[in-house]
Amino acid sequence: MIERARKLLTDTYGFADFKGQQLQVIEAALAGLDTLVLMPTGGGKSLCYQLPGLVRDGTAIVVSPLIALMRDQVTALEQLGIRAAYLNSTQDFATQQRVSQAVASGELELLYVAPERLLQPQTLAHLQRCRIALIAIDEAHCVSQWGHDFRQDYLGLDILREHFPGVPRMALTATADPRTRDEIIHRLALTTPLRFISGFDRPNIRYRVAIKTDARRQLLEFLSAHRHDAGIVYCLSRRSVDATAAWLREQGFDALAYHAGLSAHERAAHQDRFLRDDGVVVVATIAFGMGIDKPDVRFVAHMDLPKSMEAYYQETGRAGRDDEAAEAFMIYGLADVVRLSRMADQSDADEHFKRIERHKLDALLGWCEATQCRRRSLLAYFGEERTADCGNCDICLMPPGTWDATVDAQKLLSCIVRTGARFGAGHVIDVLRGKDTEKARSNGHQSLSTFGIGAHFSDAQWRSVLRQLLARGYLHADMERYGALVLTPTSRALLRGEITLQLRHDPTAPAARRKRSKPSLESIADSPLWDALRAARKQLADAHGVPPYVIFHDATLREMIAQRPRSEAQLLSLTGIGQAKLERYGAVFLQVIAAADVSTEVDG
Ligand code: ADP
Ligand code: ZN
Repeated sequence: MIERARKLLTDTYGFADFKGQQLQVIEAALAGLDTLVLMPTGGGKSLCYQLPGLVRDGTAIVVSPLIALMRDQVTALEQLGIRAAYLNSTQDFATQQRVSQAVASGELELLYVAPERLLQPQTLAHLQRCRIALIAIDEAHCVSQWGHDFRQDYLGLDILREHFPGVPRMALTATADPRTRDEIIHRLALTTPLRFISGFDRPNIRYRVAIKTDARRQLLEFLSAHRHDAGIVYCLSRRSVDATAAWLREQGFDALAYHAGLSAHERAAHQDRFLRDDGVVVVATIAFGMGIDKPDVRFVAHMDLPKSMEAYYQETGRAGRDDEAAEAFMIYGLADVVRLSRMADQSDADEHFKRIERHKLDALLGWCEATQCRRRSLLAYFGEERTADCGNCDICLMPPGTWDATVDAQKLLSCIVRTGARFGAGHVIDVLRGKDTEKARSNGHQSLSTFGIGAHFSDAQWRSVLRQLLARGYLHADMERYGALVLTPTSRALLRGEITLQLRHDPTAPAARRKRSKPSLESIADSPLWDALRAARKQLADAHGVPPYVIFHDATLREMIAQRPRSEAQLLSLTGIGQAKLERYGAVFLQVIAAADVSTEVDG
């Protein structure tokens, strides 16, 4: 059976070989075993269930919470000549009937269905009468109540074991720490599943974190290397989303806003433009992204801190699914640290949950202030130990210096104690620097022994110290007292001189120029053939009503430029060209390539 899967891989999908653990996963599913598959975004999870679904008798059911994505997924499969359909609440009754009928008569190879839909008694009853090849449960971490994507409907999926005995089930996810893995297996009632855990690393994503000084200028500088790229810029509030998008348009970017305050129609239109046109930048609240399957997103920028490491990993993971070089860029500052700390304290969750939230926030802030390879610490957070630095993050490329901040931190902490631990960052820094302010005068702070003991530092330097102390748990912004800074047990030890403290210098030099780890798209972007191929792709995409990458990925176009195929057989040897796509689009692209050959002969 695995031979059939291999043949489908090359003939239908146009891929030369399995990627990562795909082969092992597929073998397990073909053998009828339950499996848990953990692969990073872009790792190739879809093939893990699609191939056994195609090889085994009957229809494979794919449970997915991403209703918005189903239509695109099915269209992409149809482009490959695979018979697929979906069932969800957005369809009219007649369509749903037709799809159900197609499953019953065995016409469908793959059926995508939302969990709430699958669990309806009549759907279950109907599918039980059909021949089911496999049940894949995508985004399986949605079953975890501790995760940030919890879906109530996922909890009901354990009944699939009794309803479909003997049908192998496969749970897939890109994010699951060891505890969540066990929870998935338990809650989905998988039967002695084989676990396939691939690393979390996304080596093609370069991580960069900078201190927020002038957000817009920093964003612009970052985007100067991404002039014609598609990307996502995350902001915290709707207002800043709108303002940033408008401003980017003034700067000549094709930028669109996306947030829950827009009408459903506007949101859909903007998402559609992002998917279908080249080089669109979406400025969004976190509402955007889940359900975006665009492979050629070249960057993700965070203008504000994300909620947690998990959220950060997931949001940045939307970049570079096609394995080409991509960048994750984030800026943050003292204000973000204070704001998030307040939010964590303010939430009305129970104490246990609050502690977890607090812990997650600390992990995120600690990561921002990292002095070691960001990839290593990111992976370590997910339980993956690395011994080597990555060479592809800001810290590896430009290691920040550290300094002994023990004495200065002591000065700052004493100043907080002397002013009664009642004030926020601004006033504490003013007192340290000995500024003559109304507030200092009215509170009698000018006569304190700490008044002016920090005159040797600028505002920015003190803010940096404060931010790092907060991020490392030496200080706490007390919500009950309007964000007043208060000491913690560790800072008392520091004050008593029992421990010393190393802090990092805030980087001041512009971030390192990026170098791409793969032959750059930019270098071939100069080639006239590149433009011609992209134009042909866009035309076909529009004619078929699909995004360009559903026709061919950039990688396929690049191979066309490198190899200049002149026959169908040569085309077929390229990545991402299978039988169905060859028949549909081969002739068009051969023509474009031949025309380019002629024009270079004339030129040369
Ligand atoms: P995931 O769902 O894990 O994020 P996908 O299934 O969407 O990942 O696959 C990511 C990308 O990798 C897709 O563009 C897909 O076409 C490609 N891909 C998957 N398997 C292979 C393979 N064996 N060889 C080459 N490319 C592959
Ligand atoms: Zn690194």
